[in-house]
This record gives sequence, C-alpha cells and structure tokens, in this order.
Amino acid sequence: MSHRLTAPAPGWTTSTDVVVVGSGVAGLTVALNVRKAGLRAMVVTKAVLDEGSTRWAQGGIAAALGEGDTPEQHLQDTLVAGAGLCDEEAVRVLVTDGPDAVRRLIEVGAEFDLDEDGEIVLTREGGHHRRRIAHAGGDATGAEIERALVAAVEADPGLELIEHALVLDLLTDAEGHAAGVTLHVMGEGQRDGVGAILARAVVLASGGMGQVFSATTNPAVSTGDGVALALRAGAEVTDLEFVQFHPTVLFLGPDALGQQPLVSEAVRGEGAHLVDADGVRFMVGQHELAELAPRDIVAKAIIRRMQEQGAQHMYLDGRHFGAEMWEHRFPTILAACRAHGIDPVTEPIPVYPAAHHASGGVRTDHLHGRTTVPGLYACGEVACTGVHGANRLASNSLLEGLVFAERIAADLAALAAAGRLPARTVNTDAATAATPVPLLAAGTRGAIQQLMSAGAGVIRSAASLAATGKGLAGLTDAAAPASPSVETWEATNLHQVATALTAAAALREETRGCHWREDFPDRDDAHWRRHIVHPLPA
Ligand SMILES: Cc1cc2nc3c(=O)[nH]c(=O)nc-3n(C[C@H](O)[C@H](O)[C@H](O)COP(=O)(O)OP(=O)(O)OC[C@H]3O[C@@H](n4cnc5c(N)ncnc54)[C@H](O)[C@@H]3O)c2cc1C
Repeated sequence: MSHRLTAPAPGWTTSTDVVVVGSGVAGLTVALNVRKAGLRAMVVTKAVLDEGSTRWAQGGIAAALGEGDTPEQHLQDTLVAGAGLCDEEAVRVLVTDGPDAVRRLIEVGAEFDLDEDGEIVLTREGGHHRRRIAHAGGDATGAEIERALVAAVEADPGLELIEHALVLDLLTDAEGHAAGVTLHVMGEGQRDGVGAILARAVVLASGGMGQVFSATTNPAVSTGDGVALALRAGAEVTDLEFVQFHPTVLFLGPDALGQQPLVSEAVRGEGAHLVDADGVRFMVGQHELAELAPRDIVAKAIIRRMQEQGAQHMYLDGRHFGAEMWEHRFPTILAACRAHGIDPVTEPIPVYPAAHHASGGVRTDHLHGRTTVPGLYACGEVACTGVHGANRLASNSLLEGLVFAERIAADLAALAAAGRLPARTVNTDAATAATPVPLLAAGTRGAIQQLMSAGAGVIRSAASLAATGKGLAGLTDAAAPASPSVETWEATNLHQVATALTAAAALREETRGCHWREDFPDRDDAHWRRHIVHPLPA
C-alpha cells in the first residue's frame, strides 16, 4: 500500500476467511457462494444492507433466456454498445454464464414477472435486438433481487454482517498479498470506531461513483470508495472516463443535487416517445433504433436538442399507454413522477441526462475477478471486468455483478480446496509507512460535484477538463487538512476518483461510447482503441 486515508490506528481487530466490502447484488452473491464452499465470510457495508444501487434498478437483468435468443446475439449487442473497447472474452463469460446465473438467482428466491404459462416475461431495452430483459414487480427488479439476497444472507447464521461500517483501506502482508481491511464502524459497543478485519482474501463490491457528479441516479453511498481504495493500494484502475449518463432522468429543476428519480429505458422499450417542447420526435431518423438507440446516442441527441432550443430538458411521452398500463407495468416510476407533481398518464415527463453507471473501475481478469493486487478481488460496478467497454449495454450490470461474483466465489473455493488460501499476517510496517492522504473538508463534496458536472460531464473538451482539474487541485489544502470523519473520508474518496477520471478524460482525445469530446468529435481507432490505466505513467 503506497497511500492511505488519514485515520486513527485500529482500536480493535477481528478475523475471517473472506471479507466482502458492499452488500448489493455483487457482494451478497459472493458471500452466499463462499459460504456454500464452507468458508467463513464477513460482509461489511456502509449503511444498511439494501442501501446500494441494486435496489434502485428498474429495467431488469439481461440474459439470453428467450426463444430464438442466444448468448452469441447477446454478445454481439454488447460489443456494439461497447464501441470497440469490450474485452470479448469477458463478454463471452458474461453472456454464456448469464442465463444459468439468473436461474440460480431464482433458486435463491428472486421472483421475476411471469406470463400466464409461467414463463419469464422478457422486454427490450436500448441496444438489444431481442426481448431479453427479465424484470420483477414491473419496474422494481433491483428491489426484488436485493430482497431475495438479503433474506438469504440473513438466514445464514454463519455469515457475519456488519452494517454502518465504512471500509477505509486495504491491509497487505509482507508479500503484498491482501490481508484484510481497515474500517470505521459507526456504532456503539465492542466494534465502535476504527478497527481492522484480517482476512485471507478481500472482495471489493462497493458499487459505483455517481455521486462524483451533481445530478445522478445513484444513491448517496455511491462515492467511489472502492476505486479510491484501489488507487491508494496501487491496484490498476481503468476506463474511468467512461461514465454512462442515463438519458431519461426526471428533471427536478436546474439546481437539483444528488440522487434523482430515473425513468427507465423500459418505458421507451414499451413504446414511449422522446419529444421536444414542440412535440417533435427528434430521435427518429438519427438511429435505426430511434428512441432505443444505445444510451450514449440518446443522451447526446437530448443534449444537442437542448442546446439548439435553449431548453433545460426534453420530454418522454407515454400518455398513449393509458392509466392501466402505467399502474401495472411501471408502478414505481408512476409513483415517483406523481410525487413530484407530474402525471405521466396525462402529460409528458420532463427528462434530461444524469450520471448513471461507471463502466470503468478496478481492473480484473475476465475469469476470476482477480485484480492486479494478489488476494484482492473486485466485482459489480466497482470492477472493470471489460464487459462494458466504452459504454454499458442496458441491463448488463446486474448480470455482471451476479456472474463475476459467482466466479470469484468459485475461485476462492478452489484455492481453499487446494490449500492455497492461507491465513495472512499483516505487514504493520507497510501500513504505517504508507503516506497518509490529507483529508478534504466535508463541504467540498458539493464543490467536487459541481466542478465535475460543469467540466467532465456529458460534454467534455480540453478546456473544460483543464478547468475542472484545476478546480479539483485547488480544493486540497495540505496545510490545513480536515479531521477524520465519515464525511471527510467520503469527500477525499470522491476527490481522488474525480481527479483520476478527469485526467483520463483529458488524455482520451477522441469521442467514443459515453466519452464525448466536443474538440475531438470522431472515434480515433488508430490512437485510442486502447485503455487508459491508472496509475498513469509519471
Ligand atoms: C436508478 C438505477 C437504475 C438502474 N437500473 C438498472 C437495470 O435496470 N439493470 C441493470 O442491470 N442495472 C441497473 N442499474 C445499475 C445497477 O443497479 C448497478 O450497477 C448494480 O446494482 C451495482 O451492484 P453492486 O453490487 O456492484 O453495487 P451496489 O448495489 O451499489 O452496492 C454497493 C454496496 O457497497 C457499499 N459500500 C460502498 N462503499 C463502501 C465502503 N467504503 N465501505 C463499506 N461498504 C461500502 C454500499 O453501501 C452498498 O451496500 C441501475 C442503477 C441505478 C442507480
């Protein structure tokens, strides 16, 4: 470990075989599967168990489950969305393991929407040429998946769950192998304050980083902590510049900050139209799939139309669905819109793009979810397995979390069975020698978000990225660092991730996938059909 967050020395220590950071689809799936292999596991999570992105997922989970569909067709659609940067082998793992992984999720207890014959109902989303998105509760897929997984982990008395615990940094042994984590538990009793969990392997499943931007679909916990931890630990982090902006987020006013309600792509999948203030369907003629074009294309078209018309948003018109369909197919979205005074049954919904999904993250191999630090694994949105390339295909991320979590658990089980998962001794000298990162004041969170949305958001240029980079650098005050607290640790994580993302976006002088450079409007395969990997060369 070369750097660490400034924090008090651990005041307590406990141990397990596998420590899992995060309790979304990825973390809980790893935990359940390593337990099946007879290993001890601890899940550490920042808030309550279901407080991640997983429970907010609406559209569904993509897998080639339908008649006539095949993993090969799913692969082709994924590669097209990824704009030349997918790792084809990783995608092959995703689409091939996918259908059975969804079936195993059903065995765990997740209930998907079924037709009258008891078959899973499949819908379409942007970029998919087939109906292959399984959903639950209409538009409450993530909530159902999370409910089922939480029920399963809570039913296992041998699985230790630590809520309200913020993981800070990785601990390693003398060989540089992961040996546990430091964390801060926000509670009372034996494990209050900063402590350490010693483990034979560490799995990062800490989700995304949407909170780096001022408007996002991600919950407040999505502050990129896992990526920041990996950067400090010297693990390779890649593709950070590829942040997907969801084209249709409910517009709540120009000053709205933090998590905003999403209007799922499935609404367009079922036939809602994107229109401007004059009612013109501006996606028709721009792409063969019109409103169902890949997300980056729709987001850019919306921004372009907004710029042409000086508008703050566009509209999504689903009035022709009628009340009954809205109530049965999209009850969550209907309720969210109505809670904000908009009735989609009688009026078009004001929408605009907001930060949604991180395609990049901690680099892993495509077979076992191993990072470049031995014993440190990553899965779910914190990871960059290579399946998303420059742009994620809709509904591939829940599947990615599921498939690669199972693979990590299988790897750990195989290592344990072969006697190759020994207990580790933390190298306390290395932990002490790591350079403490000065902490940013809690109030800088808003400043980071505004700088990022202004200069490193949907539209980027050398000038906008330089201004954002300069603004971010100006927020660090090494002479007067803030005191350790949950808020200052999160602000510092956001700052480290934002700085790395901005540097990558400035380097990538082309437009590809969800990275849109105004000053380099074309895709440049000759120079940029490659990944930007942190740490960047000095
Ligand atoms: C509104 C919305 C709709 C979406 N719709 C879809 C969809 O329809 N289909 C699809 O495939 N994908 C969808 N996505 C994306 C998908 O939900 C996520 O990519 C996926 O759920 C990520 O799962 P995860 O397990 O990696 O992370 P999460 O579910 O975000 O869980 C991360 C966990 O890590 C914890 N954590 C974070 N930092 C720390 C720390 N320092 N210490 C301890 N714990 C920590 C969090 O508290 C949380 O428990 C959607 C996302 C959003 C926000």
